[in-house]
Amino acid sequence: MIGIYGGTFDPVHFGHLRTAWEVAERLGLQEVHMLPARQPPHRDPPVATPEQRREMLELALSGQDRLRLDETELRRDGPSWMVDTLAEFRARLGAQVPLVLVLGEDAFLGLPRWREPERILAQAHLAVMSRPGWTLPDSGRAAEWFRARRTDEVRDLQASPGGRILPVEVTRLDISATRIRRLVAAGHQPRYLVPEAVRAYIEAQGLYSS
Ligand code: ATP
Repeated sequence: MIGIYGGTFDPVHFGHLRTAWEVAERLGLQEVHMLPARQPPHRDPPVATPEQRREMLELALSGQDRLRLDETELRRDGPSWMVDTLAEFRARLGAQVPLVLVLGEDAFLGLPRWREPERILAQAHLAVMSRPGWTLPDSGRAAEWFRARRTDEVRDLQASPGGRILPVEVTRLDISATRIRRLVAAGHQPRYLVPEAVRAYIEAQGLYSS
């Protein structure tokens, strides 16, 4: 099984890294592909350039190879639709390999607004991670998908290429990129919220200092 962890990573922080690691261990994923979106379709444009976000992830991921930088969405022009990204993975890996899209509860709640969400659910499993301030949905389309597809067994994910949804309780780290950008803009250091190499990079590039 292969994990796909998409994001803006503006900047990457320990809330991304620790949760990705825990999901990899819990689900026995050999690889989790960390995919920065070139142009995230559902939000304001990132502050850092695609290249800066790529470099920060590269710094953050050095020293291990289970969490990997994946440039699939950086290479593609236009809005980074996840449904297109999954199609690229399928073309590369074939129809049978189980793919697991890893996302936080906040992102899962927004899934009905993504392009072709039903096709996303057909192409991959979802691992929905707990995140402070959020819960699993109890009404709406995301809740319906969750009820119909939920499993708590990792072996159900291994048994098919996609289509199931597994909630994963991870260490709750109340860290967001928004908060880090605000801290830096207010003249503070984001020390211990991001890897030290990422903190040094933000400082050297003068990123987020408004
Ligand atoms: P921003 O504050 O700029 O919106 P963010 O911190 O939410 O950014 P993103 O890069 O937008 O980070 O998130 C990518 C993915 O990582 C999403 O699926 C999100 O739910 C998940 N994620 C980010 N931070 C955490 C966290 N602290 N705990 C659990 N999941 C997280």
